[in-house]
Amino acid sequence: MSIQGNNPIRLNQILLPDPIVSSIFSYVTGAALVTVCKCWKENAILIKEREKRLLILVFGRPGSGKGTLMAKVAEKMGFATLSMGDYFREQVVKKRSFKEFEHQIMNHLPVPLELVHEAVSEVIKSHANQGLMIDCFPRSIESIQFFDELMKKDYPYRRIVAIHIQLDPLVADERLKTRRVCEVCKKIFGKSREEFCCGRELKPRLDAKVQGRQNGFEEKYKPSFDRYKPDLIDGSQPPEEVLKQVEKWIK
Ligand SMILES: [Zn+2]
Repeated sequence: MSIQGNNPIRLNQILLPDPIVSSIFSYVTGAALVTVCKCWKENAILIKEREKRLLILVFGRPGSGKGTLMAKVAEKMGFATLSMGDYFREQVVKKRSFKEFEHQIMNHLPVPLELVHEAVSEVIKSHANQGLMIDCFPRSIESIQFFDELMKKDYPYRRIVAIHIQLDPLVADERLKTRRVCEVCKKIFGKSREEFCCGRELKPRLDAKVQGRQNGFEEKYKPSFDRYKPDLIDGSQPPEEVLKQVEKWIK
């Protein structure tokens, strides 16, 4: 219905018959409802788009709960995750790539930076339409420069945020002792429900590999902390609480 200017509508003085008042009322509420729905839909799309573009740099010492958090965010919010060790081991085991560095990769030893940078670039490219979490990267000054350049040149649409899951080194060490490893793909598992990987039972990880892993963590990551100023998250909370905090903070 249309409202003409020649007929003043004075609702407060009840000059209009009921059917007209109610049709005006339904027209106005209907239009408002359409606007609200439209806004809600657009907002939902916006939030989705924003999540898609979100790139979260996750820092935290070994045993701080990064892996658990990343797996939960991936499951609940559809994020892709990149953990260098897992990525390279998967490439070696499933795709038979990186033959030259197989020994380092399968024994959790460092690989050349160029290889790491290539992997980061590749994963970011192949998950361009998805939120992404990266585990403990970048770390060195060279990697920070590489990453910043990559974001500037090729992915200017990404919103980058950083978090640091903080945990006392002694507590983290205790957690590492409960870790188990798959003897086939060498993937490390926390205290989760998984019992098997690659069709085999998981084995306890040897303490020898755990020792010394906490040394100098803060100094090692100082360039990243200075550059990305991560939000601090208390890693001593149960994983569900950590997830809730991160979820609230993503939205
Ligand atoms: Zn496995």
